[in-house]
Formats: sequence, structure tokens, C-alpha cells
Amino acid sequence: MSTIRVTVWNEYLHELRSEEVARVYPEGIHGCIAGFLKNAGFDTRTATLKEPENGLTQQVLDETDVLFWWGHIAHGQVEDATVERVYRRVQDGMGLVVLHSGHASKIFARLMGTNTGDLKWRENHEKQILWCVDSAHPIAEGLTQDMIILEHEETYGEPFQIPAPDQLVFISWFSGGDVFRSGCCYHRGKSKVFYFQPGHETFPTYHNETVQRVLINAARWAAPKAGPPATTGHVPETWV
Ligand code: ZN
Repeated sequence: MSTIRVTVWNEYLHELRSEEVARVYPEGIHGCIAGFLKNAGFDTRTATLKEPENGLTQQVLDETDVLFWWGHIAHGQVEDATVERVYRRVQDGMGLVVLHSGHASKIFARLMGTNTGDLKWRENHEKQILWCVDSAHPIAEGLTQDMIILEHEETYGEPFQIPAPDQLVFISWFSGGDVFRSGCCYHRGKSKVFYFQPGHETFPTYHNETVQRVLINAARWAAPKAGPPATTGHVPETWV
């Protein structure tokens, strides 16, 4: 199997504006994620908001099997043309892993068919436990426990305004009492989309080795697989 090509996209603003965030992610969130994916054997590159075409030119996307997406305060600054290019590549087979506050990104909303992706949230340093509810799923492969404990995370709470996931891999509990669908799988066109909820910029969540394992698994799961062509449209000949 050829090496899976991953592009990690990050708006890359918090890290430049906040010393607190820069201490947690000195290479940027994208640098951290691309680093452990590279160590796991993926062919990785990064892209950020302020680059021309938001770093996601057609060529970059054509050379990407799986795109990771971290955005928060600048969803509106992502060019509509960029969203359109990403959307078309997803329809054509590129996998997409949407992280944390990416629930409110233009591309996630478009792919989910929702205008909001709304949810409850608060920054209260609560403890989070992600319970794995589908231990046979490829995204859970190799996990040694049926839960991931994060001592401090931003709290997200239901109701999460998304379509019902095709597969749900994680449900979270927060010490403040909320629950949240934290690992959601979707099929869109020829491609797969995974939403993974933890990853607030002030917490070292992406340094957690179990979280890294989940994201490594997600990249493998979302990567295009060899399969038959998906023939659509008018087919003039009868087949039997
Ligand atoms: Zn956050």
C-alpha cells in the first residue's frame, strides 16, 4: 500500500496571539499533529489560513488523501472558493478529519447539511472521559482501555446539531454533568468524514498518546481505499 498523504490544516491564530497557547503548541497545533502522524509513517504536510488560497490549492488537495481541519475564531475568513475546492475533493474521495471547534467550520456545516453544528460549551477546566462505544471500529484499534481520560478539557454538551452519525465511536462525559457525541463517522460521496471533539487550544490534548492513536487510526480509516468505480447517471444498456 502506498504511503497515505495527510495535510493538516490549522487557522494558526491562537498560537501567534497567546503565549499560553504557544507554550502548549510551540510548533502550532498543526505542527504537533503533523509531527506524530509523520512518526506513524504518514506523508504529512501542513497548511494554514493566511497562506495564499488558505494553503489549500487544487494541487495540494489533489496530493492529499486525508485532510485534518482545526479552526475556531476565523471560520468566516476561510475563502468560499477554498471551501468549494475541499468540498469537491471530499466528494471525490479525500478523507476529512474535523477537530474540536471545527464543528462550526464552513466545510463541516456544508458536508453535514446543517447551518450551525451548534452545541453547548464552557471553559471550566472540567475532566472529560471519552467512552468508546464501538470497540470493533477501526478508529478504536489498539486502544488498551474502553475510555480516554483527559484531566482538563473544554466542555461540549448535547444537543449537538448534527445529523445522526453513520457510526458513533466515542461518547463523552464531563465532570460538569454534560454528555457529548465526541467521535462521529460519516460517509459522504466516495469519502469518509470523522469528527473528533477534544482539542481545545489551551490544553495539551494532542500530546496525549491515546488521542494520537485515535487520530492515527482516523487517518487510516478515512484514507481512500481501492474499490470498484461508483457508476452513476443514465445507463442505456440493460444488464440481464
Ligand atoms: Zn475550544
